[in-house]
Amino acid sequence: MIPLVDVKRQLQSIKGMIMYEIEQVLDSGQYIMGSKVKELEKEMARVMGVAEVVAVANGTDALVLTLDAYGIGKGDEVITTPFTFFATAEAVSRVGATPVFVDIDAATYNIDPKKIEEKISPVTKAILPVHLFGQPADMDEIKSIASKYDLLVIEDACQAFGATYKGKRVGSLGDAACFSFFPTKNLGTMGDGGMIATSDPQLAARLRRLRHHGSKKKYYHDSIGYNSRLDELHAAILLVSLTKIDEWNEARRRWAARYKEKLAGAGLTMPVEAADRTHIYHLFCVSSNQRDEVMTRLNQAGIQSGVYYPCPLHLQEVYQNLSYRPGDLPVAEHMASCLFALPMSPFLMESEQDVVINVLMNRGGR
Ligand SMILES: *Cc1c(COP(=O)(O)O)cnc(C)c1O
Repeated sequence: MIPLVDVKRQLQSIKGMIMYEIEQVLDSGQYIMGSKVKELEKEMARVMGVAEVVAVANGTDALVLTLDAYGIGKGDEVITTPFTFFATAEAVSRVGATPVFVDIDAATYNIDPKKIEEKISPVTKAILPVHLFGQPADMDEIKSIASKYDLLVIEDACQAFGATYKGKRVGSLGDAACFSFFPTKNLGTMGDGGMIATSDPQLAARLRRLRHHGSKKKYYHDSIGYNSRLDELHAAILLVSLTKIDEWNEARRRWAARYKEKLAGAGLTMPVEAADRTHIYHLFCVSSNQRDEVMTRLNQAGIQSGVYYPCPLHLQEVYQNLSYRPGDLPVAEHMASCLFALPMSPFLMESEQDVVINVLMNRGGR
């Protein structure tokens, strides 16, 4: 089987260094909040060009803690996209606020800035764009709306580590940015992990307290917090991966370019890279109005593919109380019916990609 995402090859390519780091951590006797987490936070801040990075337990917590640290909660609204992994909206609901969904752009699948203003209300507190599949959202347009209405901009950058917008890395574009190190993300570890990047020192200080039970001084608590820390082991692994990530992202971009070139005429809509930014193809998603048929064909040829995402968030069962109806956000609904991902990872092999291409071009299997 050619896997959709090959997490094993990526980590195996740095196995020697990971084994060394694991031994270092084991021998250090510091397993939580030790020197590796501090080093990772410092190195991440340097790479991203932000003042502070706060490591947490996972990407969902990164979102929840950020919203909480900004005091967003009951009675507040947060504008976001319906076409993303559930965690984006779940975090908004988790802090007691209401997600307000704005339809997406048909070319990039990211939130459509032209449709944001009509959804702003007196209780809107923030805009939460997602850099979906690895492509940065329209940040200038989003930020100018946010400044006009005095709203925060929180990037959900969980799928886009290393992607750039007008030469700047995602994570340095909004007031705060949330990342996930879940194994299948383009920068992943051997378990759960996440972080928040920000240049707001007050936010960073609040996040540091929140992730550790609302405590600044040991056994003294100034707020109700969380237990949401990144393990030393994951920080050590991520420090190794961080030295490789730009190279890995470049490899993804080369596979993406090759797919686009070789699949011309396959009857599939290819991902579009918007101007002034780099897409890192966390997922390589194409669309077809015969999605089921194409995916069956791939499966029969031993190729894994996957639907991202089959049900837009405004139509999820849990959000029935928000009273959206089918047809309310037509672009997201349409993409949910025809988009699917092809195998993509830095360590994909040309022979494997050729198998995928041949099946999609109807040239049979191997
Ligand atoms: C993966 C992901 C998350 C959640 O990250 P976890 O580490 O799995 O909690 C949030 N938002 C988006 C867009 C994601 O892809």
